[in-house]
Amino acid sequence: MAYVGAIDQGTTSTRVAIVDHAGTFVGMAQKEHAQLMPQPGWVEHDATEIWANIEEVTAAALADAGIDRTDLAAVGLTNQRETTLVWDAATGEPLAPAIVWQDTRTDVICRELGGAEGADRFRAKTGLPLATYFAGPKLVWLLDNVAGLRERAEAGEVRFGTMDSWVMWNLTGEHVTDVTNASRTMLMDLETLDWDDEIVGIFGIPKSVLPRIVPSVGLIGRGKGVLEGVPVAGILGDQQAAMFGQACFNPGDTKNTYGTGCFMLLNTGTQAVQSTKGLLTTVAYQIASGKPRYALEGSVAIAGSGVQWLRDQMRMIDDAPQVEPLAKTVPDNGDVYFVPAFSGLFAPYWRSDARGVIAGLTRFSEAGHVARAVLESVAYQSRDVLEAMEADSGVDMNELKVDGGMVVNELLMQFQADILDVDVVRPTIIETTVLGAAYAAGLATGFWRGLDELREHWAEDRRFVADMAEDERAALYDSWKKAVDKSLNWVD
Ligand code: ADP
Repeated sequence: MAYVGAIDQGTTSTRVAIVDHAGTFVGMAQKEHAQLMPQPGWVEHDATEIWANIEEVTAAALADAGIDRTDLAAVGLTNQRETTLVWDAATGEPLAPAIVWQDTRTDVICRELGGAEGADRFRAKTGLPLATYFAGPKLVWLLDNVAGLRERAEAGEVRFGTMDSWVMWNLTGEHVTDVTNASRTMLMDLETLDWDDEIVGIFGIPKSVLPRIVPSVGLIGRGKGVLEGVPVAGILGDQQAAMFGQACFNPGDTKNTYGTGCFMLLNTGTQAVQSTKGLLTTVAYQIASGKPRYALEGSVAIAGSGVQWLRDQMRMIDDAPQVEPLAKTVPDNGDVYFVPAFSGLFAPYWRSDARGVIAGLTRFSEAGHVARAVLESVAYQSRDVLEAMEADSGVDMNELKVDGGMVVNELLMQFQADILDVDVVRPTIIETTVLGAAYAAGLATGFWRGLDELREHWAEDRRFVADMAEDERAALYDSWKKAVDKSLNWVD
């Protein structure tokens, strides 16, 4: 069997890739799903639609590669993290729309859970601050607000999971989650890699709803339906998968993924390094029952989705790539700054009271300046995160591996190198998320022999080197900080 399959169940779409032994994509298919926004701050997905898309896209990817499922040695999964679902244990029917990671409806629950101890009440065990981002408080909201759910959960009739659990339930019949996804619930102890009874108790969650936690790389079961009989072996949350696909296996290796949001992860090896600068401590991966590897993570909520907002809400462009020529109609940002705090600010600020601002407008400002400000905001947010990362880890970074849909944007990549004063390195394969899931499945089943073999697949496409005077870099970043200040204290 010459191929490995990988399912990437992302925030906006589902992708399936077929990968050969050299790590080359030989088949790919993709389909978007609906973003349901029933009220400001709420973002939902229909889990039934997502599962149907997975089946459809898997068949399309096999057809694109011109192969049969029996040609697959294994299939792996990567998924949007934190997005939270509940379903009926008997029928498998979702019992509410899935609450997406960007959804802010749990801000009051988070404040209540923090009590007098505040947002960092559970940080020592979970590596996370209390924030609307994470799955545990979303599950609390469902138990509190979906009629009859708590009673049914207490009777053992309900299953909870993040998106990986939902896909595995449908694909293999197993109720599992991997360590990387579990580390985003606020319910797992980072050291024991098990649900923490104390936190689960404080959150008021019946334990019967929780999935079994499994390693990221390991056999889970056999596929059904379109993947009938195929070994299902490997789950990684999307950012951890991108890190795996970038071959960031050594302590100190760092990658930044520019997709819907922007996520920088630094491999800290077998040490779970606690952050004092607003980063998250998270599980990077666990191979079979070996020691887990940890990462420090800086999560930025809005990156590519800022470009989508320019397209869909502001209607300044017709498609995402047009943002680059529009930004190039002006020589610089004209002192305009965009802080995309649509759902508050994530790392390193963690301010749910922030909302988006465009600062520095004058009668001179035009669409090109706003387009530039949207792109630059991604680079400034990444600098905020990189500075926190260097402070927390003591690692002085001189190179950043990048991936994700936005890295084709050369203006952004050059500006990123300029504003960081760090080399920005783009690999030949920028679809590292789905590649990482393929790697996990292939490693688990002996399709690839070890990490060294995967490292050999990585190749550099282009290196962006800083070309900006230090005083200009400092002045731009200074103004960004002022703009961030203006976004704070907007909602009570
Ligand atoms: P995800 O996996 O999070 O859905 P992708 O990695 O597929 O995201 O990246 C898609 C994002 O990249 C979209 O938000 C889109 O707006 C943005 N994007 C795509 N092409 C460009 C481009 N040329 N310039 C800037 N942003 C882009």
